[in-house]
Amino acid sequence: MTEHYKFNQNKMCEFFPCHRGVEPEKFNCLFCYCPLYMLKNECGGNFKMTHGIKDCSDCTIPHDENSYATIMSKMKQVIERGSDF
Ligand code: SF4
Repeated sequence: MTEHYKFNQNKMCEFFPCHRGVEPEKFNCLFCYCPLYMLKNECGGNFKMTHGIKDCSDCTIPHDENSYATIMSKMKQVIERGSDF
């Protein structure tokens, strides 16, 4: 069985690669908008607060070669948090 669903790349995107620190050939665009953003300070990523707004510019978690496993390992937490709204 293949696992192509874990990786998607769009080199035609005007912003590719939108974050530094990941080799272009391994850059995963699957989670272009990070599903963990809503977890606020519990996302586990490398964010900083800029004028009170979560700034993910320096984080590579949704784009590196382990992105699928990392994001999916936290989706239960995302779904549970989503039911709080
Ligand atoms: S991009 Fe990184 S810092 Fe931003 S929400 Fe996702 S995991 Fe957290």
